[in-house]
Amino acid sequence: MQDKHQDDIVSMKGLTKSFGAHHVLKGVDLTVRRAEASFIIGPSGSGKSTLLRCVNSLESYNDGELWVEDYLVGAEKRGEQWYEARQRVTAARRARIGMVFQRFNLFPNMTALENVTAGLRMVLKQSRREADDRGRELLDRVGLLDRAGAYPAQLSGGQQQRVAIARAIAARPSIILFDEPTSALDPELVGEVLAVMRDLVREGMTMMVVTHEIQFAEEVGDTVHFIDGGRVAESGTPAEVIRASRHARTSEFLARIR
Ligand code: ADP
Ligand code: MG
Repeated sequence: MQDKHQDDIVSMKGLTKSFGAHHVLKGVDLTVRRAEASFIIGPSGSGKSTLLRCVNSLESYNDGELWVEDYLVGAEKRGEQWYEARQRVTAARRARIGMVFQRFNLFPNMTALENVTAGLRMVLKQSRREADDRGRELLDRVGLLDRAGAYPAQLSGGQQQRVAIARAIAARPSIILFDEPTSALDPELVGEVLAVMRDLVREGMTMMVVTHEIQFAEEVGDTVHFIDGGRVAESGTPAEVIRASRHARTSEFLARIR
């Protein structure tokens, strides 16, 4: 991409994605700079999850360009060749991107510590000792060192999501993608997860966050993108997009979810 900047961690230009005849992403232009907390808001079904999944190579795209750091995602994988090509996305490159899902997605048969260290041991081939040291440091960071030996079923939703965040940052990724990380939580557990995310923002972690927590986006976001109908309808600072929306669709959406 000609105007790609060296501080761009993610940059997409004209990104399109269809599922059969259903056009989900219709030419998305979006950039996330290093150390930026970038929030994606928009109605259900507008393509937010698909967008994140493209960044993480969980989904192919049809046209446009998508760069993650210096890597053109899917350069050779269009259409039929996707599944084959997907195998070639090396595990190490995948480890450069952390992802946190709505439904925690922890391994149920592993302890909190094992969940956090699994990738370090299996993908990065760290020794148990090295991985455990790092795992404990991360659990401590999310306030769960004392629950290292607990299984997911023994943890609250908020605790499980904090373990999932510790797991996502274990391999020191260059960006973390959050897909509605608090949407599946009971309201009283949302705060503890947002607190961990707030710490990450303060530490300068680069992140893309899909969320309906508008107040949180306003508080910690550097950039907010409003996605509507498969396009970025409006981008800017939280003050611009949330408090002074230029588009009627943005204000309508915000009024509905507040
Ligand atoms: P959002 O996260 O903004 O709610 P999604 O990206 O999940 O939106 O979905 C956008 C649209 O794409 C929806 O209409 C959804 O039904 C459709 N979609 C998502 N994933 C698939 C898939 N694997 N196959 C077919 N359609 C899909
Ligand atoms: Mg979604």
